[in-house]
Amino acid sequence: MKQEIPPVMLPAYIVPCSQYAVWCSYCGCLHFHGALPGGRIAHCQIAGSPYKRDFPEYYLVPTGKPLPDGAMKLHKQGMTKVRRHWRLKHYKPYVPLPVPEWGRPLYQRDYCEGLMVTWAHEQGLTPEEVEDTKRYFHRSWDEFAARWKGTKEART
Ligand SMILES: [Zn+2]
Repeated sequence: MKQEIPPVMLPAYIVPCSQYAVWCSYCGCLHFHGALPGGRIAHCQIAGSPYKRDFPEYYLVPTGKPLPDGAMKLHKQGMTKVRRHWRLKHYKPYVPLPVPEWGRPLYQRDYCEGLMVTWAHEQGLTPEEVEDTKRYFHRSWDEFAARWKGTKEART
């Protein structure tokens, strides 16, 4: 049976000064984190973001690639939009920038595992450490899927 997972597996891109950047589809801009894969608390700037409300964390999946061209420009546009939203007196629901193709959440378990293993090898981890990395990834995936299933059942 195929497990369903919420949009929490985010492709992480390398930015200078040892950081990762992920596109947040709820803020419509980038979130920056230290350059290590794994679960993180979202730095969402929009009240009611599902990354704060529904999911305890999201997961940085290392793409091994630098941030795509134009990403910072898009991020600045997104931040301008966020600031404008903050200034509004009447609190309307926030409409973020559309998600760029390179920022879309990942839903293929094998593909994500492959990126994790590639990352682990590039770090020069021992075979045992690579296995630990895989185990941590699969445990996180299963937890996200179980929580998602629970959330959906609670709503129906
Ligand atoms: Zn966000």
